[in-house]
Amino acid sequence: MNTSSPDSIRPIYLNGEWRTSSPALEVINPSTGEVFAQVSTIDREGTRQAIADADAAWQGWRDLTGKERGAYLHAIADGIEKRADEIAHTISLENGKPLAQGKGEVGMTVDHFRWFAEEARRTYGRVIPHQMPGKRHLVIRQSVGVVGAIAPWNFPLVLAVRKVAPALAAGCPVLLKPASATPLSSLLLAEAVHEAGLPKGVFQLLIGKAREIGAELMENPACRKITFTGSTEVGRELIRQSADQVKKLSMELGGHAPLIIFDDANLDTAIEGALITKFRNGGQSCIASNRIYVQAGIYEKFLEAFVKKTQALKIGDGLTDGIDIGPLIDSAAVDTALKHIEAATASGARLLCGGKRPEGFNDSFLEATVLADVPEDTLCMNEETFAPVAPVSVFDHEDEVIQRANDTDYGLAAYVFTENLNRAWRVAEALEAGTVGVNDAVPSTSQCPFGGIKQSGLGRELGSEGIDGFLESKHISFGGIG
Ligand code: NAP
Repeated sequence: MNTSSPDSIRPIYLNGEWRTSSPALEVINPSTGEVFAQVSTIDREGTRQAIADADAAWQGWRDLTGKERGAYLHAIADGIEKRADEIAHTISLENGKPLAQGKGEVGMTVDHFRWFAEEARRTYGRVIPHQMPGKRHLVIRQSVGVVGAIAPWNFPLVLAVRKVAPALAAGCPVLLKPASATPLSSLLLAEAVHEAGLPKGVFQLLIGKAREIGAELMENPACRKITFTGSTEVGRELIRQSADQVKKLSMELGGHAPLIIFDDANLDTAIEGALITKFRNGGQSCIASNRIYVQAGIYEKFLEAFVKKTQALKIGDGLTDGIDIGPLIDSAAVDTALKHIEAATASGARLLCGGKRPEGFNDSFLEATVLADVPEDTLCMNEETFAPVAPVSVFDHEDEVIQRANDTDYGLAAYVFTENLNRAWRVAEALEAGTVGVNDAVPSTSQCPFGGIKQSGLGRELGSEGIDGFLESKHISFGGIG
């Protein structure tokens, strides 16, 4: 896809065709603040038609064998792999993330497609022993139907694919609504789908006003399921809206991950882990460590080394070589982060580095920031900061830190650094989170379930569980046998 001309309006992918429509959505490169592309949009009426076309495509798609659907998914993965550099470049342009991280996102996307291509063949049912003579029971699993998939901007390709790949594998047509800030990676995904030759209507894009599109997805009975990744606030609104039709939901919502470093940790591994979990994607990750707890015996030593490494991180345009941190998605995101920093320092936290917009960049950049002695009741210890801001706090005892780590409505991810095996087990089991990384800063992988407990979500993506939300279990009971 040519992303160099901002004047031409890129078509949207609907019912197997590329259609140009208006009004156009402008796509901004957060590194420069410039509009670099325009994309066609659809309204509520267009969404209604897309749902009808998806519904019409459902029968043919679900009638294919899992192996046949899997072959389509492998073909999509091949298409993405072939254009990996171009797609990574586009992710970086629309989201601002360092190119190397964009490449990582594309690699994970390909792996997700391949994982679910194989899972398509494993949607096993069960034969259940009968309790009455002459009866036989079996359970089969069937596709839910048309799926509305709503995705965020922070990992614009891979988080969309965590929904699209299992839905397609299960036999469901999918309507993907990407975030308005980052529609281009979804257009490239649509190109790969089109080239793979999927039947028309099986995959479509819904780009446009979130409320209009969302309302139609929620109110149209032919859309059987919504899978959403985004903020807890919007998630709650969708849960409320789903009540009227008892619409099936999967929700991947906000996080507020604690990262705990014990005195007995390998300090180098722990510092590396804190840097990755905090500053990857500029801290704009649902599983970013949002609170760092360090045991008293190594607290000052940790701070000294962590600040030194943080100050060495290079800020800049995501497409510049050697960059560690790009811009945030927009200037408002920096304003929010600055509020969190100000609230922390006002309540007694020490600002050790960063804390302001860097000179020579636009308003969407923020210096990598470390705060120490951060009180538990300040904003950044209670809300997602979604920025390169690392609040660090000291603790004395294991029980105390578990209590502090769990004292939140969120429960998506948590991290523990310790060399004590007993402690690793105890703490991992006690932490209220869908994923716990033990001496591991990058726990997410295609073959393991991912999702939140408490207000971080409903359901799981990835792993063998990742396809469950797109399947219904049907009990078939036979009588009069024998
Ligand atoms: P967001 O504002 O909730 O938006 C997410 C998606 O929902 C976008 O496509 C957005 O469209 C759409 N949307 C907004 N309002 C809607 C409505 N009323 N009806 C239907 N759709 C609506 O979240 P974000 O700012 O993009 O993403 C950041 C948040 O996502 C953070 O809280 C982060 O923790 C969370 N997140 C969670 C996970 C996870 O796996 N648990 C992963 C990544 C991010 P527009 O862009 O057009 O507004």
